Amino acid sequence: MEEKTTAQESRILRFLLFLSDYKIHFMICCIGIVHVLFLLLFLFLHVTPMVIFNVFSVSTYISCGIMLRKPGRLFRVFLATYFEILLHSLAAAVCIGWQFGFTMYILALIPFCYYMCNTLLKGKKRYIAATSLAFIAFMAFAGCRMIILFRPPLYDLALAPVYLFLIYMFNAVSTCIFMIVFSLIFLLEIHISANRLRAQNKLLERLANTDPLTGLYNRRSMQVFLDHAIESGIDFCLAMCDIDDFKKVNDTYGHDAGDIVLKEIAGIMKQHMDSHGYVCRWGGEELLILSSVNPEQTRSTMERIRRSIANHIFVCGESLVRCSVTIGVSSHRSGNSVEDTIGTADYNLYHGKRNGKNRVVA
Ligand code: GH3
Ligand code: MG
Ligand code: MG
Repeated sequence: MEEKTTAQESRILRFLLFLSDYKIHFMICCIGIVHVLFLLLFLFLHVTPMVIFNVFSVSTYISCGIMLRKPGRLFRVFLATYFEILLHSLAAAVCIGWQFGFTMYILALIPFCYYMCNTLLKGKKRYIAATSLAFIAFMAFAGCRMIILFRPPLYDLALAPVYLFLIYMFNAVSTCIFMIVFSLIFLLEIHISANRLRAQNKLLERLANTDPLTGLYNRRSMQVFLDHAIESGIDFCLAMCDIDDFKKVNDTYGHDAGDIVLKEIAGIMKQHMDSHGYVCRWGGEELLILSSVNPEQTRSTMERIRRSIANHIFVCGESLVRCSVTIGVSSHRSGNSVEDTIGTADYNLYHGKRNGKNRVVA
């Protein structure tokens, strides 16, 4: 169930990444279409300078689309878009007046500048560039308002109020859609970054807590489990396990074969200890097991582990290898130090080795 959810999430994530990768292409396309509509509007209104301006604007967006086919040109495309929107809004206000709402686009440029500079630039540059461009946009907006306050627009259109309302609403809706789309993309990108960060953290945590060869917990993690067990005051057992004559395995079949044996032994131990303890690579070919069941059960589990390793045939390339382990078990009593308990397990292991190996000593 959990795997299904993760697969679905990664599919959604891939789709969002796709959307995010093509956001500028999508934006250029939409703004280009809006300018074709403006071109038709100004033709209809007989405002020649704005017709010429919109021919220039549409050509700019076609050029931007062509520029985007090569990588590394996003910032130039952003600047072209920024200045085109700024100049178009100012020119429209000067030609036909403030009341048509063309200057709303200038204010929408401010969050757009911050979003684009944050995406395309690095370090302090992003804040300086975004704030400068936002400041220029605001100054242009205020300056244009002043000009229109003191002198009438170049064209006195005298349109019916319904037309004025429709043009104003078109500009208001376009500005609103522009801001909503970019805010949504911004949110989606935050979501994508957070997911990536979570995955990286998981990976780092795994790398910090596990042994790369065997996949078992490392010594550091075991120390945490031991501290936790001591703090909570529960009884537990420790089992120190050492592979018998491992040097011989390495010398006879090679180091790679030794690695395969070590990995498979780790797998067998993990399988047996699945729900009632932790297995860690304590060092070299020594594995330490923290068992949360009573000493009798721990001993019989260790016996099962020993037997299944002794009966296992390790396939290392062309060679079939047999191996055994010796295990020393000790039970921890509250009041004792964990070092003492490890020392007892070590002592029992040593006895097992002295008495012929391939045995469990408790
Ligand atoms: P004993 O039965 O007394 O434990 O004999 P042994 O040969 O296993 O004892 P010893 O501790 O002398 O040798 C351990 C060997 O384990 C030496 C070392 O090269 C090998 N070893 C330790 N870590 C690894 C590993 O990650 N991969 C491989 N292939 N060998 C390892
Ligand atoms: Mg050994
Ligand atoms: Mg050893």
